Amino acid sequence: MQLIIFGPPGVGKGTQASLLSKKFNIVHVSTGDILRDAVERKTELGLKAKAIMESGGLVSSDIMAGIVNEVLHSEKLKNGFILDGYPRTVNQAKTLDGILETLPDTTIQIISLTAQDSIIIDRLSNRRLCINCNKIISLHSIVNDDECPECGSKGTLTKRKDDAPEVIQQRLDVYKEKTFPVLSYYENRMDVISVDAAKKIEEVTQDILAKLK
Ligand code: AMP
Repeated sequence: MQLIIFGPPGVGKGTQASLLSKKFNIVHVSTGDILRDAVERKTELGLKAKAIMESGGLVSSDIMAGIVNEVLHSEKLKNGFILDGYPRTVNQAKTLDGILETLPDTTIQIISLTAQDSIIIDRLSNRRLCINCNKIISLHSIVNDDECPECGSKGTLTKRKDDAPEVIQQRLDVYKEKTFPVLSYYENRMDVISVDAAKKIEEVTQDILAKLK
């Protein structure tokens, strides 16, 4: 099974991708996670990507193409994958078409998650990352802001630098200008599974599962 999960920042792509990857035993490939890991480890890639990510911009498509090409050819993905955060421009979508042609048996399905801006801004503003277990947590879903509900660590819930209010707006602007057109690119080529992601996490998952082939 090969899936692409598409939608604006904060709509819940990572959460749904993680649940679907467990359900279908496929690998969750998040380009944002790959970049954050590189930033954390201060690799050459991380040093190039850090400032761009923190300002809400997009890392160069050439760099992203190299990363995605390498990951998708990895042995670990032979059972399938769910791609989250890529493609983010029409140019990247075309590059991905080329990469997929080099893989055996690709039958891609695209899931598009939608929600209005006010919901997205609220989710991003209240989103925290546990630096111990790497889980994304919503402050709306917990009682004690100081404790990770997933691993129980105290004082490990941090805000992503790009979840600062001014960066959130920049990311939404970049999404509308550069990423949103990717949807039409796919709609002109295949059926896109569209799901209302304003609902609760479990309901969104159920809607996706009901529509997947
Ligand atoms: P995400 O976790 O998907 O929201 O990604 C976090 C940041 O990583 C984005 O705001 C971009 O700066 C960068 N990034 C992730 N995926 C891509 C991509 N496909 N193309 C360019 N930049 C990306």
